[in-house]
Amino acid sequence: MSVASNIIDDQRMRIIRNEFSRLGDKCYLDNAGTALYPQSLLKVINDDLLKNVYMNPHSDKYTRDCIDQIRCTILNHFNSDTSTYSVIFTSGTTQSLKLVLESFQFQNYNEEKGSFIYLRDNHTSVIGLRELVKNKDVDVVHISHSEFLSSLKISQISHEGCQEKDINKSNTLLVYPMQSNFNGFKYPINCLKNIQNGCLSGYLKKQLCEVNCNWYILLDAASFVATSKLDLSVTQPDFVCLSFYKIFGFPTGLGALLVKNGSANVLSQRNYFGGGTVDIALSSEDFHVKRSTLHERFEDGTLPFLSIIALKHCFDIISHLIPKTVNNNVMDTISYHTYYLAKDLYEQLKDLKHENGAKAAVLYMDTDFTDINIQGGIVTFNLLRQDGSYIGYAEFQHMADLFNISTRTGCFCNSGSCQRHLNISNKEMKAMHKAGHKCGDEIDLIDGKPTGAVRVSFGYHNTFDDVDKLILMISKCLFKNLNIHKPERTMINFNNNKKETINVNSKEQTSVILNIKKFFNLHGMPEVYNQNSKILLSEIAIFPIKSCGAFKIKTGWKIGKKGFKYDREWMIVKDNGVCLTQKQNTLMCKIQPFIDLENKCLTLCFSGLQPISIPLDPTNNNQYIETQVCQSKVCTDVVKGYDCGDEVADWISNALGVSYLRLIKQSSERVQKQKSNEGVKMLSLSNQAQYLLVNKATVRWLKSKITDMTFTDDIDSLVDRFRGNLIIDTSQELIEREWQKLVIGQHEFKVEGQCSRCQMVCIDQKTGEKTVEPLRTISQEFGGKLRFGIYLSYIGPVNGCKDHILATYSEVNPFSKMSQ
Ligand SMILES: *Cc1c(COP(=O)(O)O)cnc(C)c1O
Repeated sequence: MSVASNIIDDQRMRIIRNEFSRLGDKCYLDNAGTALYPQSLLKVINDDLLKNVYMNPHSDKYTRDCIDQIRCTILNHFNSDTSTYSVIFTSGTTQSLKLVLESFQFQNYNEEKGSFIYLRDNHTSVIGLRELVKNKDVDVVHISHSEFLSSLKISQISHEGCQEKDINKSNTLLVYPMQSNFNGFKYPINCLKNIQNGCLSGYLKKQLCEVNCNWYILLDAASFVATSKLDLSVTQPDFVCLSFYKIFGFPTGLGALLVKNGSANVLSQRNYFGGGTVDIALSSEDFHVKRSTLHERFEDGTLPFLSIIALKHCFDIISHLIPKTVNNNVMDTISYHTYYLAKDLYEQLKDLKHENGAKAAVLYMDTDFTDINIQGGIVTFNLLRQDGSYIGYAEFQHMADLFNISTRTGCFCNSGSCQRHLNISNKEMKAMHKAGHKCGDEIDLIDGKPTGAVRVSFGYHNTFDDVDKLILMISKCLFKNLNIHKPERTMINFNNNKKETINVNSKEQTSVILNIKKFFNLHGMPEVYNQNSKILLSEIAIFPIKSCGAFKIKTGWKIGKKGFKYDREWMIVKDNGVCLTQKQNTLMCKIQPFIDLENKCLTLCFSGLQPISIPLDPTNNNQYIETQVCQSKVCTDVVKGYDCGDEVADWISNALGVSYLRLIKQSSERVQKQKSNEGVKMLSLSNQAQYLLVNKATVRWLKSKITDMTFTDDIDSLVDRFRGNLIIDTSQELIEREWQKLVIGQHEFKVEGQCSRCQMVCIDQKTGEKTVEPLRTISQEFGGKLRFGIYLSYIGPVNGCKDHILATYSEVNPFSKMSQ
């Protein structure tokens, strides 16, 4: 028998997992991105809103009272009450932070400058606060992680001693996170007294700033409170910022700023007043008086009152769902639960070794998981190959997508921590940016050096199963034979303070390893092929509907600057206006299109359905409606098109099992956003270049490298996965990578670069099934660069040729870099 967690027993864990059945087989490990809401939460909120009439709190006392009640619930959650703290509702942590900076009085009745200090390891939302003080007389100072920690240790006695704040002196505001969103490191919370007593004054002095006793502390608690208990009866920072979706997963757009009542006066610099924040305001004279209650002064406009009502149920449901196993407290239980899951993963990654004994993971942690007081349930790392080279995070992401595992990759809005752990200097950061790397993009390695990492963060719904899924994916996808060392997993019984040991069946462990070995047993010899000095264009394929099946052309096809005629001219669009791709719906490849030029129609086939035909040209047909479509999830590429009508829309929805799909034909006009940097353009060509050429010889070579026995594609099926327009077969593999230009028949093409690949090549184009290969081998063979096939753009006809037809079996004449 195995245990689901060290803290929550299996029976309770099943009840919790029931609340997340919508996950299906998705393994959700990005809880630091957002928590997930339990399903019954929506039901109780729904019932509440259906039963009660909530009105604008400015008009309705009942709603106002409910909201005030929830302020108390929030403070109660943090073990405080309205006599010590006030709750100001905001839209989230970021707004809370901005509100403090905007209102904070740095200078008093003297000429001294105030100071604003932040940690370099803070979240980007904190770093950006410095822009808000630029026009004020304020020194902006940043402090490194290690200098901050060592300053905190300096005993208060060595300072002149700060007993009380001096209202005649300027003020210093320090912002730091309670827990790093980068790797879950928890900053000491018991050091507030030391800070207030001036233990950081020495550092300020070194920076030539005014030093006095007026320290104010702004805690960024966003990451900490998601899985830990913040006890405001023990530590009392002046200001605390948080977002509720990080704790409960719902509602979004709601956060709070907690202000210690004794420190409220320093938030005096706010100019704006809005609906609800004033006792009197004259519209024709410069006269207004702000409300006296703190939160009323800061909550502009109408509060998101229904979200606040929902919040009450969030607190309720958590306390019913989660047992109070640790310290008779829900948050402590969540804290231990997530900590031990992360610790388990940490230990496995730390010990993860390749067959040759080389380390397989680099961890970016600030603790070694020996103390829950300084470490939360987050593990951040990169993976290494046998030869010590890095696997980039984008590659990891593609593999994780394939296994339906959600993690966060990149720098997680924390460039300071990223730079510190990945050892990237400011100069290098700027150079990377100049080379086209931007926050959140796919450029995961530059000169072999990682630009970001993988973050795994646990929530209360996770179990050891999730850790196992991740480890299995790492070994299946990225490595062949890994030595996995599973730590002992035991239930910890907190009630009588002794560890109750339940052994994990050791047979179960070894069977996992055996399966992986079986999976990757060596086999397979390269197929023989005819040596042929002449290169011929062996196949032309077009993909009339983006992401759907290929239409293979027997004789020849019309060619143009924008690609082959009818290639990717149609697309399937979801009800939100975004284009559907095979990544989301693998069945798309089974929609088989045929173009009949004579009858001017496109016919679609799908097994089990009657074929359906639509006219090729929408403009002579008045059933079409003009519309706009987003090509990508982020809508960077907006396309104009014509809707092909209800009948085909229903047919496609039926085939793919998704409601409200529409078929859109792209019109010739393309509203594309301009890319400013040429370098960047080269890196993100994937949807822009017109022709994709795939060399069968290279595919054959790739197949010989694939050692996975369960991968049974023949060469033609493997070629099909790359969805090329032009298929050739040369005597030598990989030579197409050297080419700069080619003439096929009477037409000249320029090579635009290699095609970067994603998990789409892992979809069997006949069955729609997902496999690990060939992406794993591509990544292995090309050092993590997922490139395969080359992009071409059409230059024009040569030798005075007038036709615009490219014929199959035309001769292909390449010009490589050398021969030019
Ligand atoms: C998430 C997070 C933020 C930003 O929170 P928003 O909800 O995006 O405003 C700031 N700091 C830390 C430590 C975080 O984890």
